Amino acid sequence: MQKQNVLFNLDDTLSYCNRYFNEVIDEFANTMTSWFDTFTKEEIKEKQLQIDIKAIEKHGLKSERFPESFVGAYQYFCDVTGREKKEDKIKYLRNLGFKVFEIPVEPIPKMYETLERLKNDGHELYLHTGGDEANQHRKIAQLEIATYFEHRIFISEHKDTTALSDILKTIDADPNVTWMVGNSLRTDIVPALEKNIHAIYIPAETEWKYNMVDVDVEDHHEFFTVQSLEEVPDVIYNHIQ
Ligand SMILES: [Mg+2]
Repeated sequence: MQKQNVLFNLDDTLSYCNRYFNEVIDEFANTMTSWFDTFTKEEIKEKQLQIDIKAIEKHGLKSERFPESFVGAYQYFCDVTGREKKEDKIKYLRNLGFKVFEIPVEPIPKMYETLERLKNDGHELYLHTGGDEANQHRKIAQLEIATYFEHRIFISEHKDTTALSDILKTIDADPNVTWMVGNSLRTDIVPALEKNIHAIYIPAETEWKYNMVDVDVEDHHEFFTVQSLEEVPDVIYNHIQ
């Protein structure tokens, strides 16, 4: 079988992620509606999301950004209601936001079997993940997947086409035998299509609005969509037959 380079995204592709954020955001919205009872949970969540996404555009996917979006939303609602900003509440919300980075991550079903099969088929596996080094390495260690990726692990704070392009240059990849597998249209699929490599899209159980974009790339290859991670080896196998 012709050896392929397969780049995997981590969060919500190999292991769950959004569900942990959603749990903590829910707790945040509950707390906030108890403090600001004229607003709904949806209004609070919408503001938090808006602040969070704006911060990514500016600072990338650093972990600290997320707890600060809780603080920013609290400050916003203090301003619109003319209330005093309390230091103890800011501290409470910041700590709440950081809790998401302490939740142990669980693998997506059949994660180990999928990686094992691709490895046994002789393919070279890479990890291409967005976030900061400490948090992503924590998850890689918890999942015990370094054995599949060894030194082929790339962590980007700005996970975009430039980041993918740099990786492809570093590994000197032939686009015809190179794949990107991920749940994010924005940060996995569109960059892959822009770099003319193969792409496999696996929608997540719940998706973060940041990841959802229209695929508006000129003359791109067709990309594959599958419903589960375990279908990935067959897609690759069938394509190269
Ligand atoms: Mg992802």
